[in-house]
Amino acid sequence: MRNDIVVCQNIFMKYQSADGETEAIKDISFTVKPKEFVSIIGPSGCGKSTLLSIIAGLIKPTRGKVYINGTDIAENKVNIGYMPQKDSLLPFRTIRENVFLGLEIQGKKTKENMEYGENLLKTYGLGDFMNKYPSQLSGGMRQRAALIRTLVIRPEILLLDEAFSALDYQTRLAVSNDIYSIIKKEGKTAVMVTHDISEAVSMSERIIVLTNRPAEIKSIHKPRFDEEYDVPLKRRNHEAFREHFNKVWRDIDVHI
Ligand code: ADP
Ligand code: MG
Repeated sequence: MRNDIVVCQNIFMKYQSADGETEAIKDISFTVKPKEFVSIIGPSGCGKSTLLSIIAGLIKPTRGKVYINGTDIAENKVNIGYMPQKDSLLPFRTIRENVFLGLEIQGKKTKENMEYGENLLKTYGLGDFMNKYPSQLSGGMRQRAALIRTLVIRPEILLLDEAFSALDYQTRLAVSNDIYSIIKKEGKTAVMVTHDISEAVSMSERIIVLTNRPAEIKSIHKPRFDEEYDVPLKRRNHEAFREHFNKVWRDIDVHI
């Protein structure tokens, strides 16, 4: 417990609206270790984004607590990197200005942090694109820029909500590999929400499977691969991949 960077304790969430109550989360508890990559997977509409927003401190749970590095998320002192589904870069800002956006919002646009952002852009192949606009970049490059914008604020953890689902299949394979490699190289902890089993199996040390709404934890999987299968694209070709996939698949309630 003392080593855990994320602690979710008995999270419940009920939305109140004009036509009644929607119970989205029911008694979810789990922890994440530093540098771990954890995926949360479950059927559409089960409560995944709700759970991630609660971990990000964007919405307050009806019951339960979230601690990041021992600090209650409700205290608003924790630096979280949140990456939504669409890359959400501002079209009228250059890539460099987009990367500085998070720094501006947090009042941290110092020379040192700006240099850090530029170095990340250079390290990850966007050095020549700093002064271009998002529309001049490929989908994969935009995704990388969005990740760098998230990294530049030096977050304690990265939260990714279906971060690749807007991309076409081929691109998303390459981009998830790319983003995974950057996250590992920068030594970051990541919690990723997805409905894509292959994505979860190829990227995660641990997969938390949620039930249909209200989301409860159905099972937890730890896909293991030989050490040389160190990136998602290689893992997809590992002989154990299908077996891990099927184990997760069996636990997801699909209604057709
Ligand atoms: P997922 O990300 O797994 O698809 P969500 O967390 O977005 O699911 O939503 C879970 C449930 O909560 C859904 O039934 C959704 O309609 C409902 N919900 C989400 N946000 C709100 C809200 N702001 N107000 C009321 N109901 C909501
Ligand atoms: Mg969602």
